[in-house]
Amino acid sequence: MSVHSDDYRVMPNQTVKLKKFPTRYDGKMTKEEGLEKIAELYRRLSELQALLYADGKQSLLVVLQAMDAAGKDSTIRNVFSPLNPQGCKVASFKAPNSVETMHDFLWRIHQNVPRSGYIGVFNRSHYEDVLVARVKNLAPKEIIKRRYEHINNFEALLRDAGTRVVKFYLHITADYQKTQLQKRLDTPEKNWKFSPSDIPERMHWDEYQEAFAAAFSHCSTADAPWYIVPAERKWFRNLLIAQVIVETLEGMNLHYPQAQFDPKEVKIP
Ligand code: ATP
Ligand code: MG
Repeated sequence: MSVHSDDYRVMPNQTVKLKKFPTRYDGKMTKEEGLEKIAELYRRLSELQALLYADGKQSLLVVLQAMDAAGKDSTIRNVFSPLNPQGCKVASFKAPNSVETMHDFLWRIHQNVPRSGYIGVFNRSHYEDVLVARVKNLAPKEIIKRRYEHINNFEALLRDAGTRVVKFYLHITADYQKTQLQKRLDTPEKNWKFSPSDIPERMHWDEYQEAFAAAFSHCSTADAPWYIVPAERKWFRNLLIAQVIVETLEGMNLHYPQAQFDPKEVKIP
C-alpha cells in the first residue's frame, strides 16, 4: 500500500479550487498500515538527515501554512521528532515587529533560511504576506500582487544557492476548525492556545481560502512545489509530509564526503 504524493501536489499555474481537495484521507490504507509506513519513513528521514548534514552542501526548507488550529504544531512535533536537533531549526513567524516592518517582507525570512547541511522548518512564513496581508488589506492590492513574483524569484534564488524548498498546506474544513478551537476552550491545559483573535479570523474563512488558492496557483513551481495535505486524519497528514520530505531528500544527490586521506593508513597511537 503506497501513497502517490503527486496526487496532492499543485502543478505550476494550476487553477486551485480548495473545495475540490480532500480534507480527510479516505483511501484504502488502514491506520495500522499507515503507522507502519510512518515508522519506516521516520527511520529513512533520520538517515537522510545525517547524510544531508555530512554532505554539507545543500539544505532543505519545509514551509508549513494553515488556518488556525489545523495542526501545524502537532505536525512539527511528530514529523520532525526523528531528526537530530543538531541540524534542524524551526522558525515561527508572527505579525512583524517594529524593526521587521521597517524592511521588505522577505528580510526577516531570508535570515532564517537553513544553512548548508540543515533542515529548516517555517511555522508560517513569507506566505503570510499574501494571505493575512491580502485578507486584512495590510498593503495596497498592487503591492500584494507583485509579491507572488517576488516570492517565486526568492525561492528560485534559494534553489540556486542549494536550498530545496517544499511547502505544505494543512487542509481542513471550517467545521473541523470549530471542533479544534472548542477543544482549546474545553481543556484547561489547552486554553493558552486559544486566542480571542481566532474568532474574527475565522469570520474571514472564505477570503482566506481564496487567498490560499491564489498563492498556490501563483507560487507552486517545479522547484518549490505546494502540497495540499488532507489534515483531518493526523496519521495520514504525518505520513504524506514525511514521504514528500524523504522523496525530496532522496532526489538531492547527497553523498558522504570522500575522505581526504587513506583511513587504512592512519594509525591511532
Ligand atoms: P497556533 O496555531 O498555536 O495558534 P499561530 O501560528 O496561529 O499558532 P499565533 O501567535 O496565534 O500563532 O498567530 C500568529 C499570527 O501572526 C497569525 O495571526 C498570523 O496571521 C500573524 N502573522 C504572521 N506573519 C504575518 C505577517 N507577515 N503580517 C501580518 N501578520 C502576520
Ligand atoms: Mg493562532
